[in-house]
Order: sequence, then C-alpha cells, then structure tokens
Amino acid sequence: MTETAIKPATISHWLNGKPTAGTSGRSAKVYNPATGQVQGLVDLASVEEIDAAVGAASAAAKKWRLVPLSKRAEIMFRFRALIDARRDDLARILTREHGKVHADALGEIARGIENVDFACGIPSLLKGGYSEGASTGVDVYSIQQPLGVVAGITPFNFPAMVPLWMIANALACGNAFILKPSERDPSASLFIAELLKAAGIPDGVFTVIHGDKMAVDALLEHPGIAAVSFVGSTPIARYIYQKGTEHGKRVQALGGAKNHMLVLPDADVNMAADAAVSAAYGSAGERCMAISVVLAVGEVGDELVGAIAGRLPALKVGPGSDPANEMGPLISREHRDKVAGYIASAEAQGATVVVDGRAQSFEGDGFFLGVSLLDHVTENMDAYRDEIFGPVLCVVRVPSYEEGLRLINENEFGNGTAIFTRDGGAARQFQFECQVGMVGVNVPIPVPVAYYSFGGWKASLFGDTHMYGPEGIRFYTRSKVITSRWPDPASSRIDLGFPHNK
Ligand code: NAD
Repeated sequence: MTETAIKPATISHWLNGKPTAGTSGRSAKVYNPATGQVQGLVDLASVEEIDAAVGAASAAAKKWRLVPLSKRAEIMFRFRALIDARRDDLARILTREHGKVHADALGEIARGIENVDFACGIPSLLKGGYSEGASTGVDVYSIQQPLGVVAGITPFNFPAMVPLWMIANALACGNAFILKPSERDPSASLFIAELLKAAGIPDGVFTVIHGDKMAVDALLEHPGIAAVSFVGSTPIARYIYQKGTEHGKRVQALGGAKNHMLVLPDADVNMAADAAVSAAYGSAGERCMAISVVLAVGEVGDELVGAIAGRLPALKVGPGSDPANEMGPLISREHRDKVAGYIASAEAQGATVVVDGRAQSFEGDGFFLGVSLLDHVTENMDAYRDEIFGPVLCVVRVPSYEEGLRLINENEFGNGTAIFTRDGGAARQFQFECQVGMVGVNVPIPVPVAYYSFGGWKASLFGDTHMYGPEGIRFYTRSKVITSRWPDPASSRIDLGFPHNK
C-alpha cells in the first residue's frame, strides 16, 4: 500500500471558537504510525496568522479576567464532566495519531484530568494574604492577577496530558491561552477545544494554532505574549528559554530525560523486574519519565537481567487499536530507525544484546520495533549517553550504591529517577543525595499528582518554575501587594522620610 492510500483529512486551526482553515499554503503530513499511512494534513501557521491569533486572544483576555472566580470554577467543573464522558473518543484519537495502545491513552487522559480537578479549586488557589494593622491604620494585602495571553508549545508524546497540564491552570487563572501542539499528532488539541467551548469558555480565550518553527518563533517574538510554557526535547527547550526570555517573556521549558532506576541487592527482584519492564517499554519508551537505564548494584545483576529478559517474550506489540496489545508503534519511520541504530551501536561498542527488538517482524508498514534489552552497557556508549526515546532498556552493572549515585548525578539530565530497595535508610539517603527533580521509592514512574508540581533538574528544565500544581498557578499569575490607609484628612501632613512603622 502507498503512504497515501486513503485521502488525508485537513486539520485546521481553532480560532475565535471555531475550526479555521490555514491561509499560509503550508501543511505537514500526519501519519497513522500503526499503518504507516498519511491520514491527515495539518495546516502550518504563518507569522501573519500568529499575529492575528494573538490579537484575538488579547481582546478575549481583557474580558475573561473580569469573569468571577466562581464562574471560572463552574466552567472547569463542566469541562471536567465533558472530558470524563468523552475519554474513550479522545483515547481513540491519541491511538490513531500517536500510536499508543488504548489503555495507555486512557491513562494519559486520567492524568490530564487530574489537572482539571486541581483547577476547579481556583477560588481557593488564588486567595491572597491580608495583614490588618501592618502599621497604624495601615493594612497590607496581596492579590494574584492573570498575565494576559500565554502560549503553550507541546511535544508529540502526550498530545492530551501535557496540554492539560497547562490549559486548566492558565485559563482558570484568567489568562487567554494559545496552544501550539505537536504537528505530528495535532487532533487531540482540537477535540479539547470543542469540549472547552461546550463547557462555556468564551470564544478567543482558547486558541489552537498549528505550526512548526515558524509559528514557534513568531510566538516567542510576539510582544502580545506574556509567558510561554514549553515541553519537548532539551535542545529546543534551551532555545525556547533563551529566545523567549530575550523577548521579555516568562518562560518554563521542560526538556528531555535519561531516567535511571537504581536496584540495590536487597530489592525484591520480581517487583523490580515488573517495574523496569512497565516503565521502560510502556508507550514504546516514548515517555519523558520512562526508565531507560537500570543500575544493577552488585550481585543483583544476573538475577535481575534474567527476570527482565524472562518477561519480554510475553509482551504483545502491535496496533494500539487492538485491546490485546500492550505496546504500539513509534511515532515515525525515521525515529524507529534511529532507535534501532542505538541497538546496533551498543552492540558494536561492546554491550550484550540480551533481547533484540529488531528481530521481531511485523505485518504492514507501521513504525513498529520490538522491545530490546541491553546488558553490560557502559557510560561511554551512545546508548547510555543519549536519550533514545524508544523501547530499549540499558542495564549498567555497578559495584555499589555510591557508583550508581555518581552516574545519576553526573548525568546531563535530572528529570526522574527511582530506587528499589527494602532499606528505608538507603532510600532516604538517596532522596537526599540525588540531583533529580522527581524521585520514586519503589515507584518507577514518579510523576507527581496534580496538587504537587512536575519538573526536572539540570538539562531537563530551563526556568525556575515547575509545571502545574501550585507552581503552575504561580507561573500563570503576577502578584501585587497593596498597602492601604483610610486616614482622617485632618491627620494629613508632609513627611519626606522613608515610610516606616510609627
Ligand atoms: P520536540 O522538541 O521535537 O518538539 C516539541 C515542540 O517543539 C513541538 O511542538 C515542535 O513543533 C516544536 N519544535 C520542534 N523543533 C523546533 C524548532 N527547531 N524550533 C522551534 N520549535 C520547534 O520534542 P518531541 O519530539 O515532540 O517530544 C519528545 C521530547 O520531549 C523528548 O525529548 C522528551 O523527553 C521530551 N518530553 C519532556 C517532558 C518533560 O516533562 N520534561 C515531557 C514530555 C516530553
């Protein structure tokens, strides 16, 4: 079958509360990764289209910030009910464009909905402080105000959850939000736009604008955008942070990862093996919190590698639309081939290929790759150094806890990590010493719940504010402190001294 055996659907922007065809004349192909076919053509915005979108969002933001908190909360509750009722439909969109299996897509949506739950509490979240009588007859209080128009630029691997990390809090805080989703799986964002409209978000307050570097640069340079939330790979995150801040914007830019799971000799080996398999191969390893390296300490190595390898033949890899499958394809042919290249390079550099995903054959032209397990990987190998972002798990044998910790702390990234042990003291020491933003203790994918905040350290995050939760509310608002006095006019006089308590 050719790449375009079916007629591709046009995927347009969402402007002023409705789908709006692009005018740039540029578009990108959207594939079904399970078949390898082009199923959509997504419009790519021009600089002029970005300018028009920001103009409309600015006008909408001025009215939206006047909407009372109780009303904004009501809209969030309605949005929550709508998205909850349509979980299956949204999951099917994710499977069609991203490739992940239906159950995994539902998991992503559930974690996204948590952020809407959190935003439903916006009246409490925006409560300021009040100090009566800070000085004689003087009261001081703080308020949090929206920024205006904020933009979100999101990656392909969580087309619903990552936008929801941003959208719920940004809107509830009273901002207008412009989403520039990944051009590789753009349809989930339009589905979310429809639900937001049905929930009562006024036209222009939520915009979806598709695009590539041209659209991103236009957003970063536009004076009408106050802040940018970004999630994606580290080189682009670094670029977004530099360019966005150069243009005077508040920026939070989350980057890539290389998450290590440290397994101590006292760990329950079966539990650690189950966790490693789930966290390495779920979503075909295309998760920023995937475990990509197991650090096996001392004598646990042989038993652990055997336990992981023993579990792999039973994993079912195939189209995500078939409920029997546990892992789907990768996002693109090029990415699949790049991931396979890491298996070849690790082998050439001296690693042991215990399970070779390249050996598994699949029907059709989908972007499938079987799961791989590499043992005796060392820190100089490409498979260890780079973020592979595929179903490849590297095992590094280390002699001690200290050596494992050294590898974690010297790694360029610091997104997530996990320790598997029965020793509470060792786990406590690990959480204290590791230079990583999110830590699991016998939990392999420690994505924080929505009332904490998500973010890594080092090259996994540029900016000072983590995503969602309390830090998300802080990111999407500006605080103001008011010092007020209602004096008796008779007490008024000139005083050139600096104001202080009297
Ligand atoms: P990506 O960096 O290629 O793309 C992310 C976004 O940036 C997309 O919207 C894309 O259109 C845009 N973009 C791409 N190239 C650009 C350029 N040259 N200039 C301006 N904009 C550009 O990332 P991806 O491949 O879509 O996603 C996978 C990456 O995201 C992985 O590295 C993964 O670790 C990371 N990720 C990180 C987190 C986290 O929370 N830290 C979460 C999910 C994904």
